[in-house]
Amino acid sequence: MTKSIGGHVASHATSSIDVVALLRSDAEAGLDEAEAQRRLAEGSRNELPDAPLRGPIARAWAQFNNPLILVLIAAGAITLALQDYVDSAVIFGVVLINAAIGFIQEGKAESALAAVRSMLANVADVVRDRRRREIPAADLVVGDVVLLEAGDRVPADLRLIAVRNLLVDESALTGESVAAEKADLAVNDDAPLGDRVGMAYSGTLVTSGTARGVVVATGRNTEVGRIGALVGGAGTLATPLTRALDQFARRITVVILIVSVAAFGFATLVDGRDVMESFLAVVGLAVAAIPEGLPAIITIILAIGTRVLARNRAIIRRLPAVETLGSVSVICTDKTGTLTRNEMTVVRLLLHDADVEVSGAGYEPVGDFTVGDRQLNDEQKRAVTALCRAAMLCNDASVHEGSDGIWQAVGDPMEAALVTVGRKFGIDHDDVIEECPRSDEIPFDPSLRLMVTAHEVSADAPRVLFVKGAPEEVLRMCANEDEDRWHGVVSEAAGRGERVLAFAVCESSAVDGPLQHETLPDGWQLLGMVSLMDPPRPEAIDSIAVCRTAGIRVIMITGDHAATAAAIGAQLGLGASSALTGNDIQSMDDAALRRALESHDVIARANPEDKMRLVSVLQESGSYVAMTGDGVNDAPALKSADIGVAMGGRGTDAARDASDLVLTDDNFATITQAVREGRVVFENVRKSLRFVLPTNGGQGGLILLALLIGLTLPVTVAQILWVNMVTTVTLALALAFEPGEKGVMQQAPRPKGEPLVTRGMLAQITYVSVIIIMVTLAAFSWELSRGSTIEVARTAAVNALVAAELLYLFNVRRLRTSSFHISTFTGNRAALIAAGILVILQLAFTYAPPMQVLFSTAPLDLASWMVIAALAIGMFVIVGLEKQILLNKKSRG
Ligand code: ADP
Ligand code: MG
Repeated sequence: MTKSIGGHVASHATSSIDVVALLRSDAEAGLDEAEAQRRLAEGSRNELPDAPLRGPIARAWAQFNNPLILVLIAAGAITLALQDYVDSAVIFGVVLINAAIGFIQEGKAESALAAVRSMLANVADVVRDRRRREIPAADLVVGDVVLLEAGDRVPADLRLIAVRNLLVDESALTGESVAAEKADLAVNDDAPLGDRVGMAYSGTLVTSGTARGVVVATGRNTEVGRIGALVGGAGTLATPLTRALDQFARRITVVILIVSVAAFGFATLVDGRDVMESFLAVVGLAVAAIPEGLPAIITIILAIGTRVLARNRAIIRRLPAVETLGSVSVICTDKTGTLTRNEMTVVRLLLHDADVEVSGAGYEPVGDFTVGDRQLNDEQKRAVTALCRAAMLCNDASVHEGSDGIWQAVGDPMEAALVTVGRKFGIDHDDVIEECPRSDEIPFDPSLRLMVTAHEVSADAPRVLFVKGAPEEVLRMCANEDEDRWHGVVSEAAGRGERVLAFAVCESSAVDGPLQHETLPDGWQLLGMVSLMDPPRPEAIDSIAVCRTAGIRVIMITGDHAATAAAIGAQLGLGASSALTGNDIQSMDDAALRRALESHDVIARANPEDKMRLVSVLQESGSYVAMTGDGVNDAPALKSADIGVAMGGRGTDAARDASDLVLTDDNFATITQAVREGRVVFENVRKSLRFVLPTNGGQGGLILLALLIGLTLPVTVAQILWVNMVTTVTLALALAFEPGEKGVMQQAPRPKGEPLVTRGMLAQITYVSVIIIMVTLAAFSWELSRGSTIEVARTAAVNALVAAELLYLFNVRRLRTSSFHISTFTGNRAALIAAGILVILQLAFTYAPPMQVLFSTAPLDLASWMVIAALAIGMFVIVGLEKQILLNKKSRG
């Protein structure tokens, strides 16, 4: 427990040395692995219970909390009171089946979301057996030594040991929004949480600086665990789309109820029909016309989309993002690691008087150093040694040979490449680190583009400082350098797409105290520069081309040199001869920036604040913006973008928390995939509307017509309830499983603000409703005209209605291909299964004796089936022809 280690002392009120000792740990070496495993086996994992999903009872209750269902229950109760047992049973059957389906589907959707979320497990940087490694945060034990850096979510309660400019956002715990400054200090036993400067608490967020800390409490014993705070709540299934649809459904319900009451009044008062019969007919009308299955169908479509995305290494953090993804019109993406492989290799060392070429690939420390075709002379060897040592010391990464013989990077790939180049030259990484232990540092800051480390060689020797960073920043610090020559050298390398890093050293006895960027001493000497290659990902090139045909702009934003960015941009196929730089952007007002963006796809030397401005300018000009980010400073831009995309691999926890989508493979191609899936989801929603609305409209219209014109009902109330039930659970659901249609990525993005149901859709919905009514009435009257009984005529009418809906489903499946093609009936197994089930249900409805009793149906002969088939096919042809005409018009226009 935080309050008491060993039962009596509070860790925030104890010196860190004592805490480490009490926990039988070691601030430098960490725990050893065996001890950590033992502690893990004895204690519990470092986990908090997930936010509970909505309980089954709440979920079940929600199924009945729906105006339509309440209307149905009322109708069921009244029919029961009137001793009309068959209709009453059917109505209650509908209620129960509907509720059961909603219940199961929503449960599935919720657990799918929860599963996807659990794929975003946290990791922690720990020191064990003197080695730094990444482990799942859940495996942390008390006594573990954890390393913190900017952007990390603190993985457990920690007593801080080595604190460097650490700022922690503790708002999750204390509500205090100003980040708290931390130090290795003990405070009073009774100090409130917010004042315990020597502690970092689980769930809080490191906004800058670095620190080491020893774990004093994990899981439920942490402060968050004890206040019962819930992290990573399951979220709700409600999205703007489902809410819009809910509202839409409610509105339709009200309209239909009003129409029903009016129809009831008309039938009984004006037409003088039987009250009981009219009442039942009106109930049937309402039930048939209300698209009660729609919200459930949309939820399923979103959940399926989320699952497909997760399988493709894109994890949705907020459900609404699935649909928003489909309307993205601009993707602003990082370069390094997203568009490039992030497998860096040092290809050249740039010394004062020579360019040294380095051979070898990957992180394996094997390669040659040559100048031209010659070996290095002694002078050059000395310079390379000094440069490589600096590159190893001003560095947080390491490389290791894996058991498979492949060398692996631990830490930042670029820094690992710097370790490799030194090892290629024969310098031992561990020796160098041991000789010159690091005493202080300024961690790499993307807006300074620098990293500084201080090293204590011995007690009386002066402190040695190294800087590594962007050439222009480092050159500025160094006196007596021929800046023009160096800029020429850098531009040349950058023009080939290489990234150049400069190194300088400063021996200083003058300064003491913690390193600060503002108070760095003078007297820096340039050691040379290192040029690294990071080739573009081949799949990124393809994806950018896909985006282009999909009407999506890709803008590359990087902290790299303008020439490097432009060269890589050209290799990727971005239409850019030159790059816009962060400085350019800062000197422009919004209007100028908007104009500049029209002709620039590459932004270089950009700061996180620049990203923020790009998002707002692009949004103002009507774009839906997806923005990637990985650093703690990227969080605001990620939040304000329509889709914030974080990197699961190299991104910080802060960036992940601010994002809607997390890429587990950090790959640009995955974003394109995700946008495609988002479009498929949206199209499936629209296809469902195109199917559900006219079929419900037709069913309701049929009864309304009969009531108003005074016809004998062509379909009884029980029968219309049956049709409504079976088509909702079979046909309408099938569209949720529709795979993406050819050409989804050959359309322009959906315009901002386009309504869910367009005019064209509305027209289709109306005329299809009318045709469905006509088909059903035609079958009914044909049967009557050839002298069939009313039972047979109604059975034929019901089957014609269902057959018409079935074929219409296949018409709706494809928006962009002709219906008169075999592919209309292939490619969606769910649709075929649904069709099969529906046929079986209809045969049972027609021929099974119990059904005949329940629904007053009668067997049909072959002639009836032929007429039904002809009518349904006729409708299929008409709707198909209409689509054909629209398609032809589009391809000509
Ligand atoms: P990117 O947008 O390509 O990821 P970064 O923001 O990571 O670019 O880096 C911007 C620039 O900062 C680089 O071009 C390089 O000059 C410098 N830089 C990057 N990483 C480091 C580091 N670890 N240490 C020092 N300088 C760095
Ligand atoms: Mg970077």
